[in-house]
Amino acid sequence: MRQTLEDTLLAAIRTIPDYPKQGILFRDITTLLGNARAFRRAVDELVHPYAGTKIDKIAGIEARGFILGGAIAHQLSAGFIPIRKKGKLPHDTVRVAYSLEYGIDEMEMHKDAVAPGEKVILVDDLIATGGTAEGAVKLLRQMGAEIVSACFVIDLPDLGGRAKLEALGVDVRTLISYE
Ligand code: AMP
Repeated sequence: MRQTLEDTLLAAIRTIPDYPKQGILFRDITTLLGNARAFRRAVDELVHPYAGTKIDKIAGIEARGFILGGAIAHQLSAGFIPIRKKGKLPHDTVRVAYSLEYGIDEMEMHKDAVAPGEKVILVDDLIATGGTAEGAVKLLRQMGAEIVSACFVIDLPDLGGRAKLEALGVDVRTLISYE
């Protein structure tokens, strides 16, 4: 019998307790990426709602959002925008501070990565507090992008990220959640 999407993904994702620090359950998608069937299914499922829709760009958040986002961009015949930690992009950038669990950091995007009115899907592996994705939404909107959706393989709903993005008017799609 064909496994459900949820079973396939849950079986393919590895959980590492106390990484990177005590008390965190790190949801490690490297095992999903290494599993051809699970990787393909995750990408197919993330792409599915947009079949036949014109999407200009996929914006991926460093680093795991690059891997998923690249595959999604290829499937949708869209361009790809890397959103990176500060200091990594070589040309003129826009920068935003975003909140982490403890403290803040900054992320950047090239100013010419997106044109006003372009339809963009934001991609990362996981949404927790939503601070990272919120920063990416700000950068994209600052350059005039229309954010069609933000997509994640994993939702940690107890941490409120989905609700935070929805309050900003962003359509959020996730494949599985860990309560
Ligand atoms: P947040 O900004 O709190 O939504 O955190 C999301 C970012 O941190 C994503 O880029 C995730 O890859 C990473 N992240 C946060 N919590 C976890 C976790 N429990 N397991 C794996 N990655 C995580």
